[in-house]
Amino acid sequence: MNNTGKESRPLNFIETIIEEGLKNGKNEGRVHTRFPPEPNGYLHIGHAKSICLNFGLAEKYGGKCNLRFDDTNPVTEEVEYVDSIKEDIRWLGFDWEDREYYASDYFDLLYEFALKLIKNGKAYVDDQSVEAISEQRGTPTQSGTESPCRNRSIEENLELFEKMRNGEFAEGTHVLRAKIDMASPNMHMRDPVIYRIKHASHHRTGDTWCIYPMYDFAHGQSDYFEGITHSICTLEFEVHRPLYDWLVEELKESDYRPHQIEFARLNLSFTIMSKRRLLELVKKGYVRGWDDPRMPTICAFRRRGYTPEAIRFFAERVGVAKRDNVIDVALLEHTIREDLNMRANRVMAVLNPLKVVIINYPEDKVEWMETINNPEDENMGTRKIPFSRELLIEQDDFMEDPPKKFFRLSPGNEVRLKSAYIIKCEKVIKDNNGRIVELHCTYDPDTRSGGPQSNRKVKSTIHWLSSRHAFKAEIRLYDRLFNKEDPGEFDEGQDFISNLNPDSLEILDGYVEPSLKGSRPLEKFQFQRLGYFCVDPDSTEEKLVFNRTVTLRDTWARIQAKA
Ligand code: ATP
Ligand code: MG
Repeated sequence: MNNTGKESRPLNFIETIIEEGLKNGKNEGRVHTRFPPEPNGYLHIGHAKSICLNFGLAEKYGGKCNLRFDDTNPVTEEVEYVDSIKEDIRWLGFDWEDREYYASDYFDLLYEFALKLIKNGKAYVDDQSVEAISEQRGTPTQSGTESPCRNRSIEENLELFEKMRNGEFAEGTHVLRAKIDMASPNMHMRDPVIYRIKHASHHRTGDTWCIYPMYDFAHGQSDYFEGITHSICTLEFEVHRPLYDWLVEELKESDYRPHQIEFARLNLSFTIMSKRRLLELVKKGYVRGWDDPRMPTICAFRRRGYTPEAIRFFAERVGVAKRDNVIDVALLEHTIREDLNMRANRVMAVLNPLKVVIINYPEDKVEWMETINNPEDENMGTRKIPFSRELLIEQDDFMEDPPKKFFRLSPGNEVRLKSAYIIKCEKVIKDNNGRIVELHCTYDPDTRSGGPQSNRKVKSTIHWLSSRHAFKAEIRLYDRLFNKEDPGEFDEGQDFISNLNPDSLEILDGYVEPSLKGSRPLEKFQFQRLGYFCVDPDSTEEKLVFNRTVTLRDTWARIQAKA
């Protein structure tokens, strides 16, 4: 396995279907897919999976992938979402070229198609109440009953449908239904509604329409209009497939037909992926926005420091399944670590500072210590970091009364300062409340890299900063947003909000080494011994803001080692 997102593996079941079709000369050898988001929210990691699959297959088989906005519901859709979706797909590294389509582009064609169905006696206007229609649908084990409107004349249907279109009826009073089979064992075939009235402005068609096609009616037909060959969707649409095929069969004017193929949606442990719920988190202020780094959205991952390469590799790694499953979020985090390990410079940062004075080091002296940027890649070079008499170390790296296995700094004990000297703690200074405020240490001048004692072993190496050179930084530490493996599961009378982790964000005032001054948003670093961090756009000239991307603790690698 390598890190390029490509690993040799057997064909997945969709590739097998595609290759079989190509062998049999289906669709004149064309492979044409589409990614069909509904612009009613920001894209999340599940969508990323679908994007990688659709664009990836087109790439692999020399085909094309369209971007199509499924904008058939004027009430929930917004231009903000359209823009964010395009930005996120581009950022992931995919290109739909000039093929940016909207289901709303086809409203005229769909209307014509509805008329054709009516004229062929395959659709009728139903003016019963929503409740009556739903009651007549029956149950999975019991046939439905036919609507009293089912046998209206074609003329009457045409007239009523035109009145629907002209805005003469109120919402909810009339629908257009396909006339299929009320006794079908498949509920979706029991005269499904294909048009409804909505007196609402559409983000693209404005007030041109007050009737809107239902998803099932628009989707397959849009595939047909665009010449899609493989219409890949998630498993819940499997039961819609007979309707998809029925409608395409009614519409088709040649031998070409798009085919729907279903795969299992990506589910991640500790993660919510319903757009409705994500919207609730944003609207009610449980997070700071769609791009809050705790969200599973693509824009949040970007802000948190994930790279598009890592996300694409993850999508490839989880594969394509036919059965629903849940992927351990630790695998995603593991993939992010692997990726950042190769690309992030190792730098010094102290999150909870404790002052250290090197009492045998001259007051005004500064030495610039050479240090390696990334031990994984020598091409990433070296840089120099300042050392002086007053240092900052992590509070955790000192204990006044250490237990047996504590090998870091303690009274009378030595540690190595990474890329610098070995120091020894001589004295602990406390304030009036007994709080430790400062350590007095001595350093051993021979232990510097290149010095006669540079290889002298001590049990522990810690990170540090020169106090007067250190640069202020706000550090945002993220933990999982939910503390339950399946956040969609909750006790009666509760909702998914009750599974939120109250400690998912901790903000610290820390320090980083001076070379980081002037870092740009989204630059990525490994803070030695602490984790991977990424510069947040909230950063200013005076203060950098960092998001913790992931810690260094790799629970996935540990699980794998045990297995
Ligand atoms: P909702 O959250 O409202 O159910 P959705 O997730 O279906 O909506 P769409 O905008 O309709 O959102 O999705 C666009 C495409 O992304 C669809 O083809 C859908 O099947 C796919 N998709 C959505 N969620 C996932 C997921 N978790 N895994 C894989 N594909 C997904
Ligand atoms: Mg959907």
